[in-house]
Amino acid sequence: MGESKDNCVFCKIVGGEIPATVVFQDELTLAFMDIGCVNPGHMLVAAKPHVENLQVMGEALAGAMFRSAARAARALEAVYSPAGISVYQANGAAAGQTVFHAHIHVLPRWEHDGLTFTWPVKSPPREELERVAAQLRAAL
Ligand code: AMP
Ligand code: ZN
Repeated sequence: MGESKDNCVFCKIVGGEIPATVVFQDELTLAFMDIGCVNPGHMLVAAKPHVENLQVMGEALAGAMFRSAARAARALEAVYSPAGISVYQANGAAAGQTVFHAHIHVLPRWEHDGLTFTWPVKSPPREELERVAAQLRAAL
């Protein structure tokens, strides 16, 4: 499904093979400006190792990713005092992932900024929630 490591645009950014506007980095993550930003300040926090998605991230990397997302959010808060901040992370094409190297979007939000998200709510009975939760617990 995803591109191989050798042909991965974010691996190339991490490796310095193609340009990116880097904001900060640590041992496991790199934060850089999204060239297709939705609002000014829109950053991506990418894993330094090539991992395709959240499901296959090790615990240390998963922790580092969200720590860096929080750091990016604090920088946005300091610079823009935005009306809101969104964190978005897509896993798989059906979820909207277009670059198959794990990353988190962190972007400032404004009222009526044009970013819409449809959230088709279902309201299942409690028994259904319990049944699904039991399945998930067994899979942990
Ligand atoms: P996603 O839909 O979550 O996979 O989003 C991928 C994001 O990567 C998009 O918002 C693109 O604008 C962004 N992107 C793709 N190529 C580059 C690049 N070379 N430098 C910076 N951002 C990029
Ligand atoms: Zn990669």
